[in-house]
Amino acid sequence: MTPGSLFIVTAPSGAGKTTLVKLLLDHDSNVRQSVSYTTRAPRSGEIDGVAYHFIDVRTFVAMRDRGEFLEWAEVHGNFYGTSRVWLEEQMRSGHDMLLEIDWQGAQQVRERFHDAIGIFVMPPSMAELENRLKKRGLDSEEVIQRRVAAALGELRHVGEFDFVIINNDLQIAHSELRAAVLASRLRFARQKARHPEMFRFLD
Ligand code: 5GP
Repeated sequence: MTPGSLFIVTAPSGAGKTTLVKLLLDHDSNVRQSVSYTTRAPRSGEIDGVAYHFIDVRTFVAMRDRGEFLEWAEVHGNFYGTSRVWLEEQMRSGHDMLLEIDWQGAQQVRERFHDAIGIFVMPPSMAELENRLKKRGLDSEEVIQRRVAAALGELRHVGEFDFVIINNDLQIAHSELRAAVLASRLRFARQKARHPEMFRFLD
């Protein structure tokens, strides 16, 4: 069984990353999303085990100290982490895995998986980002202002990613995300791993 690829999707909140990822997953059945652990309180409509595994700080720290996270970070005052065992199991059974994580987590994942593919989603402008956060109606004005300020810091890391999608038009951004996923599956190393018989003449 050829192990799956690892995709990292990062964006400031309000860039439309979650909607884009959902569209990708609806159209590409080989990509699975990792469900992160977080100490953040669930937002309305978020189901435990689907959006996130919601846990308290003590449980998070204990898991982290046992080395159960492939990566973890503090984002906007809450802890977030990716389960190492579950992710590696899924990849071993051939699934392409997608992590929707922040830039700090992306850096940690790249150290462990050198061929992970980083995709950064940018909002068309800072004004539009603030507008989307407000329209979403999920966060208070104070939280929105904190997220807008944090977005500038996150955007500084765009150069660490392989692909950049500017999410102005959702349908175009969706096609671009699919294109990035498809293109990265065509890299020589992936093709050789998937079809070793076709490349035996190189040995
Ligand atoms: P939210 O609370 O809005 O769902 O997510 C806030 C931020 O945390 C987003 O940038 C999201 O990508 C990031 N995030 C979610 N899960 C993880 C994770 O497991 N690890 C890291 N490093 N960041 C995460």
